Amino acid sequence: MTTDFATAPRRLENMDDLVSLCARRGFIFPSSEIYGGINGFWDYGPLGVELKQNLKACWWQRMVRERDDVVGLDSSIICHPRTWEASGHTEHFSDPMVDCRACKKRFRADQLDDIGSCSAREGSSEHDLTEPRNFNLMLRTSIGASEDAASLAYLRAETCQPIFNDFKRVRETARQKIPFGIAQIGKAFRNEINPRNFTFRSREFEQAEMEFFCHPREREKWFSHWLEERLCFHRELGLDDEYLRTRRHEEGELAHYAKQAVDVEYRFPFGWQEIEGIHDRGDWDLRRHSEYSGKDLGVTDPETKEHFFPMVVETSVGVDRTCLAVLCHAYTVETFEGGDERTVMRFHPALAPLKAAVLPLSKKLAQPARKLHLELRRHWNVFYDESGNIGRRYRRQDEVGTPFCLTYDFDSEDDRKVTVRHRDSMSQHRIAIDAVVDYLREQLENSG
Ligand code: ATP
Repeated sequence: MTTDFATAPRRLENMDDLVSLCARRGFIFPSSEIYGGINGFWDYGPLGVELKQNLKACWWQRMVRERDDVVGLDSSIICHPRTWEASGHTEHFSDPMVDCRACKKRFRADQLDDIGSCSAREGSSEHDLTEPRNFNLMLRTSIGASEDAASLAYLRAETCQPIFNDFKRVRETARQKIPFGIAQIGKAFRNEINPRNFTFRSREFEQAEMEFFCHPREREKWFSHWLEERLCFHRELGLDDEYLRTRRHEEGELAHYAKQAVDVEYRFPFGWQEIEGIHDRGDWDLRRHSEYSGKDLGVTDPETKEHFFPMVVETSVGVDRTCLAVLCHAYTVETFEGGDERTVMRFHPALAPLKAAVLPLSKKLAQPARKLHLELRRHWNVFYDESGNIGRRYRRQDEVGTPFCLTYDFDSEDDRKVTVRHRDSMSQHRIAIDAVVDYLREQLENSG
């Protein structure tokens, strides 16, 4: 195989190419597909769930395990309904919505740029839009046997509110003092008016949020710290600066309680869009939950005896949106001299769903190759594939982003070596079977 390209490798331009790869290779596909799908809901298949778990593990490692001053939480999805009154969601968590009187379609009033034409009007292709009305985005459910106002509950619209509910208990049991943070990864639900751009705007999605509680005089310092930390995280996942930027919210855009907010944006094929928000939420949440619950969520400085509500700096990243950014970023099509093409997902090895594949050159070599596979999968998610010609098997692994292929051939029996093929460079060399674990560990841990 020659590595001379006929043209420069192509990045993802059309989302349809990625949507199709994701469905074909079992990364992500519509939920309830056999019933025609359900708008705004997606399922992650065998490779998608690995990718997402790897991403969450990187976040958890960085945000919780490597720090003394952040602890984890896994709260219930349904909270006491008063939570959402205190947080302001029942009153304010809405988007302006307009309806087309002719075709009956519904749109977000602040996103009317690409709504297409109306198919139901005579003499005009323009939609006949109503005045904007506010539409609350919280998904409702009811608890218990009766379905009256008393049983009304909401699926959480963001993962942070239960963090505030649990603030006192977590602080005391974890014996934490201000400044410290509480982190959680979990599902959130929003009844979005127009789910779109694949998983980008879904109705069910995952967030990884961290609320950092600090003294009022330190809020600026921690805001800068977390903004920098979070940018580093995205860079370390392989999203380079050309595709990453920050956008500071204008005064009029800020939530009424927020002092400042910066979005981390990724350049998707459909434009620059937010993947994470860093927010200075002030003492709004703790104050409100204190007021609504009657429990004092303030803290007392042990030295000065000052009693105060800590200020909150929040980092809130969408797991699905970041997965989507990672998928978009990894997608590459290479065209070789002679017209041959390969699609390769250049995932950072830490995120790659499969770290390696063991490929016996012939089915006759299945037994020793399987032995190697069994050993490797004690350490990583490693695939085994003995069907089809070796070139096609390499391509299948390239398309799902497996960083290393290990080919067991007839010489392996004698020299106790296998061929390692690198996904990105396609370079190949032989290494001792006994050294494979150390080699992969070295390569996987020192990459990036
Ligand atoms: P947007 O303005 O795009 O609706 P937002 O500002 O309301 O997003 P936040 O409430 O700050 O978003 O939520 C934090 C993160 O959660 C976002 O940066 C995004 O990654 C993720 N997120 C929010 N809404 C959705 C959604 N409908 N689908 C997927 N991810 C979402």
